[in-house]
Amino acid sequence: MKPLKDQVAVVTGSTSGIGHAMAEALAAQGCKVMLNGLGDPAAIEATRAGTAAKYGVDVGYHGADMTKPDEIADLIAETLKAWGRIDILINNAGIQFVSPIEDFPIAKWDQIIAINLSSAFHGMRAAIPTMKAQGRGRIINLASAHALVASPFKAAYVAAKHGVAGLTKTAALELATFGITCNAICPGYVKTPLVDGQIADQAKARNMTPEQVMKDVILAAQPTKKFVEYDQLAGLMLYLVSDAGASVNGAILPIDGGWTAQ
Ligand code: NAD
Repeated sequence: MKPLKDQVAVVTGSTSGIGHAMAEALAAQGCKVMLNGLGDPAAIEATRAGTAAKYGVDVGYHGADMTKPDEIADLIAETLKAWGRIDILINNAGIQFVSPIEDFPIAKWDQIIAINLSSAFHGMRAAIPTMKAQGRGRIINLASAHALVASPFKAAYVAAKHGVAGLTKTAALELATFGITCNAICPGYVKTPLVDGQIADQAKARNMTPEQVMKDVILAAQPTKKFVEYDQLAGLMLYLVSDAGASVNGAILPIDGGWTAQ
């Protein structure tokens, strides 16, 4: 029997990148998965149906906009309506914007705080009563090495991710006696569409070529000089959601090739 058979997961921002990889890894273990995120409806439906067929599990999709608390609550409510429980919540949706603080557009600041920080609060707020009633739950927040250290020109992202670390620790303390854990996974650079966008933005902000940014900015921070891979992140996530992970709680876990050891 697959280890996560009969469990239900919600993964925000799972139409792309890390969230999509997490959703696939959960489905491969037999978990029912509710996808979420932006994108072309036909492409999203192809992803949903493809994952369901590949792993033989129920896969749903909810289009909640992570800037809208009501829609996030509806994502959790619709998942419960469909499958009757929520075992795993992965708050993963995130965006980036790169600019000096004095030029940082106010609307971008608000959007990043909403998607990268507040959406995790709203998702947890909606899912925790069900997890408490079940007597078990696993909450994983996709933070970043930028939850532990800063980089210039990423004020909103770094502030949001440090906020996620604080939210994670607070939830861990509140939920510890209910069989629920809350942890943050803090990747270094993973080559996703989000990072591809950053390479272009950083090149502009720093007046460098994209190749220089890859070599001298992005992989310069990562001692291994290698991007973090999807299956490495999925491996940590699967450990955290397993019974073996029950005592890992409130941990802010770097998976960054040694970046934050410096
Ligand atoms: P990505 O751009 O590939 O995927 C982001 C996902 O979030 C997409 O599914 C997108 O549709 C969704 N999303 C964005 N805005 C949304 C909104 N308003 N409502 C609903 N969904 C929305 O990015 P990624 O690199 O896979 O990043 C995923 C998470 O991992 C983010 O929280 C990011 O900060 C974090 N992270 C990424 C890296 C990296 O190097 N890629 C490193 C550390 C942390």
